[in-house]
Amino acid sequence: MKRDPRYDVLFEPVKIGPVTAPNRFYQVPHASGMTNALPRVRAAFRETKAEGGWGVICTGACSTDPSSDDSPLPFATMWDTNDIRAHAMMTEAVHRHGSLAGVELWHGGASVMNRTSRIPPLSPSGIPWMATHVGFMGNARPKTMDKSDIRDVLRWQAEGARKSRTAGFDIVYVYAGMGYLGYEFLLPEYNHRTDEYGGTLENRVRFVRELLDVTRDAVGKDCGVALRISLEELRGRPGTHQPSEAHEVIELLADYADLFDVKMDSSPTDCSASRFTGEGSHEPVIDFVKSLTKKPVVGVGRFTSPDTMVSQIRRGVLDLIGGARPSIADPFLPVKIKEGRHDEIRECIGCNICISSWHDGVPVRCTQNPTAGEEWRRGWHPERVDAAKKPGKVLIVGGGPAGLECALTLGRRGHEVTLADKGTSFGGRLTFETRLPGLSTWNRVAEYRLGRLNEMTNVSMYLESDIGVDEIIDLAPDHVVLATGARWTRMLYSSMEIPVGELDHPRVYTPDDIAAGRLPEGPTLVFDFDSYYMGGVLTEYLAQQGNEVTYVTPAGQASAWTIMTNELPLVHRALARRNVRVTTLHMLTAFDGAMATLTHLFTGETFRIKCRSVLVVGLRMPRKELFEALTARSEDVSAAGIKSIRRIGDGLAPGAIAHAVHSGHTCAQELGGKQYAPYRRDTPIVDAEPEFKSRAAAE
Ligand code: ADP
Ligand code: SF4
Repeated sequence: MKRDPRYDVLFEPVKIGPVTAPNRFYQVPHASGMTNALPRVRAAFRETKAEGGWGVICTGACSTDPSSDDSPLPFATMWDTNDIRAHAMMTEAVHRHGSLAGVELWHGGASVMNRTSRIPPLSPSGIPWMATHVGFMGNARPKTMDKSDIRDVLRWQAEGARKSRTAGFDIVYVYAGMGYLGYEFLLPEYNHRTDEYGGTLENRVRFVRELLDVTRDAVGKDCGVALRISLEELRGRPGTHQPSEAHEVIELLADYADLFDVKMDSSPTDCSASRFTGEGSHEPVIDFVKSLTKKPVVGVGRFTSPDTMVSQIRRGVLDLIGGARPSIADPFLPVKIKEGRHDEIRECIGCNICISSWHDGVPVRCTQNPTAGEEWRRGWHPERVDAAKKPGKVLIVGGGPAGLECALTLGRRGHEVTLADKGTSFGGRLTFETRLPGLSTWNRVAEYRLGRLNEMTNVSMYLESDIGVDEIIDLAPDHVVLATGARWTRMLYSSMEIPVGELDHPRVYTPDDIAAGRLPEGPTLVFDFDSYYMGGVLTEYLAQQGNEVTYVTPAGQASAWTIMTNELPLVHRALARRNVRVTTLHMLTAFDGAMATLTHLFTGETFRIKCRSVLVVGLRMPRKELFEALTARSEDVSAAGIKSIRRIGDGLAPGAIAHAVHSGHTCAQELGGKQYAPYRRDTPIVDAEPEFKSRAAAE
């Protein structure tokens, strides 16, 4: 297919100081959870995006000194020769495809707890930020930087920049955002200094300007110098001669950077979930930057539509289209736009499972792209898959996320696939869930796959087909894959976290009842110990229908796990807007049809609350009847020539949609080979240890 000329502008080169980006697709720095400990995993992950046409590929936060230590959260380092070698793997990989490599040099200031280095955190005036999530809390308060500390940080930045150049980077960052050290100097609430670094805006900007100066002096002839800056808070503060302090900061720094990478201040607004925020949400904060500098500007906004991208450029908002999540969900997004294959774009759905990987301290996972992070470990590629050595007939029962992904990948491998679902549409759990408040974008998980499956001549798809053992034996495929999903139960637990049995009353509901259109009679008590989105979103849904709802959870917050996906603050806001009463740290212990008994998780004190119905959002168990029935008829199954029966997705082990997609993909990659094949283990680059060598020799 030919590219639409409207999109030609996206493929123009852009000069960034002494280097030139080959196009306007810019993978901004983003956490990958890979760190220098997984250099090959990281290089392959980033290389895939370069191969897919992203003109610039950046690292995530890369510490310039052990005093910037965010452990146990993952971060990269640029401290020594081994670090240079680890990063060089990525720059070489990116350069192989003609893209530029950028490094986000970073000092965390008071935002890091230096848990491993045990150095007191640095800050302009000894003022920490207020952490409300236990993962970010610590007991170390920062020290106030004296002049020699300031000189040290500037020296580390310059040394980090030189090391970065040696490692092969083309763009070197100064970071003044997201609560980190540069940002702390900009805000008077953190910066109480009375010397030349505090007070007036000119003084508060000085430290960031000096970081830019030392970086330029160190590598400015060879590398572009980028400034990453958060503007949300500053944009809300009136300036003295400009509409806001954000304007004045950019005005003061306009000539000091070769590129402005502009963003919001906190994770929930910077990388917000689609449940609450649409594409291009940063624009009202960053739209002015280009009017105050001649240097190119890059920004993000979960851009997936080429029309939105072109509009950002034509309207003078951005010069480069920044992508973090869109580049994870579809590393080949630029190539697909270039080749006019828009329908094939695997759109980011804004679920933020990728961010949760960073909070979990593991390599990135993606709901839409199961190959993310698996490029080196398992040799997976987002666009290519090995042809099956022995193509066979495969029957997949269940067309939810797991079944759809499995069918797509098996189809690509050349198998003859039959996908059957008893429902009236494909999508499984998505069919209902995407009708819930804020979740419609998630339907792209099904739509993307159905679009590709419909193009395949070796995949047949059947709806309204309730498949049982007899049908499977009659069809006699070579392989059977069961993707039959899970069901929610009415199980309750004790305060010792032990299951105590199902809550038994005709007006006790589960999410499956709501999906089937059985709405509870209000007032309703939602008891949520699943703690991801379902309890919160169903509470919103019921409240929207006019049902009086109380939300109760044994966790400390509503939808407590959504802190991992940046959604938690907005979940609470959404529930408050609907006047939902939220009770935390309580267990549901009884319900008689008129009153529910709640017991405090720690004290055991009880109280009763009036309600007509209870909705339990807790334990999910696999739908295993078909598997068990097939196992019971193993002789008939063998006689029909069925070589294998595999279970995938929620039908194997219930989880998030990302788990189901990954499970479906894994099965399709492994079918005909080894199940649960081990993945390759990466190793950090370290100096050889003479002691180990001699010990090995002695053995
Ligand atoms: P997952 O997230 O693992 O893909 P889902 O619950 O989203 O699981 O999807 C499971 C799908 O399997 C549903 O669409 C359901 O209709 C279908 N299904 C379950 N049992 C059968 C069966 N016996 N025959 C056909 N389809 C089935
Ligand atoms: Fe987008 Fe979700 Fe993938 Fe993150 S995990 S890139 S938000 S689809």
